[in-house]
Amino acid sequence: MIQAERLTKRYGPLLAVDALSFEVAPGEVLGFLGPNGAGKSTTMKMLTGFVAPTSGDAIVCGHRVSGDARAARDRLGYLPEGAPSYPEMTVRAFLAFIAAMRGLRGPARRTAVDRAVGQLDLGDVLAQTVDTLSKGYRRRVGLAQAILHDPPVLILDEPTDGLDPNQKHQVRRLIEGMAADKIIIISTHILEEVEAVCSRALIISSGRILADDTPQGLAARARRHNAVTLRPRAAGDAAQIAEAVDALPGVDSVERADDGTVTAFPADGAPIIGDVAALAGERGWPLVELHQESGRLDEVFREITGETVS
Ligand code: ADP
Repeated sequence: MIQAERLTKRYGPLLAVDALSFEVAPGEVLGFLGPNGAGKSTTMKMLTGFVAPTSGDAIVCGHRVSGDARAARDRLGYLPEGAPSYPEMTVRAFLAFIAAMRGLRGPARRTAVDRAVGQLDLGDVLAQTVDTLSKGYRRRVGLAQAILHDPPVLILDEPTDGLDPNQKHQVRRLIEGMAADKIIIISTHILEEVEAVCSRALIISSGRILADDTPQGLAARARRHNAVTLRPRAAGDAAQIAEAVDALPGVDSVERADDGTVTAFPADGAPIIGDVAALAGERGWPLVELHQESGRLDEVFREITGETVS
């Protein structure tokens, strides 16, 4: 279990993290989602003991980071922002060094390094020095050092930053594979990542939590959630279709686009697809499309933070 208790960080006049409190349980993959400068990295640095909070505290698996930092750190793996490492070391030497720092010796150390190398697919670059690696490989070396000692808690700052789509997929599968019995916190500004790997997301902006929900729960807050879109074969039918759909009891409002598409919004977020489809069948409307919208996270994110993300 991880507990953040009113974690606060000031940099001079700037309140970077403003009394954040939350708990994370094993099996959860928690996403810190927020615009640049929201306070995600600073929160992670405080959870891992790399930055001392101005006030508040964090508890990692029962150990207070303020009083028992060593015990807390032993239980977590951390991929810092930018994945810093030792540029002049080979990948093999770097991982062996980190494993030694984690107290692993002899065969246990070799097994740990081999396992992490296999999981991050680093076999081809073991003899290369870190400074000769591409950004994607450096990130994977950073991830490998974070999981070397198989910690119960993983804190990963933008784990897929700099990776190509295949590598992103691979890292997301890796996170999923480790999620069952660990606590994993990742920070990201990529919404599809939250949908792909997180069981829960905290939307953070200006150091405060603005939403704490499942990705599905967040999407359900979107105006388009459960809206129904119909596209008539002939755009000329749109006006008549819009009028009839608007008269359904569960429909709050209807919008028409230039291409003839009609979108009906539910009155209270409840599904209206059944009623709309029944009406379309009854009237025999020639349609080329009829579907229910699920609601999009980027819409909700924009509404909540007033900012756009990629
Ligand atoms: P995020 O990870 O969400 O992009 P950060 O936690 O890196 O946000 O930063 C939060 C705020 O704190 C930003 O305004 C940033 O400029 C500021 N900040 C971060 N680190 C420092 C520092 N060492 N000194 C001064 N300001 C900092």
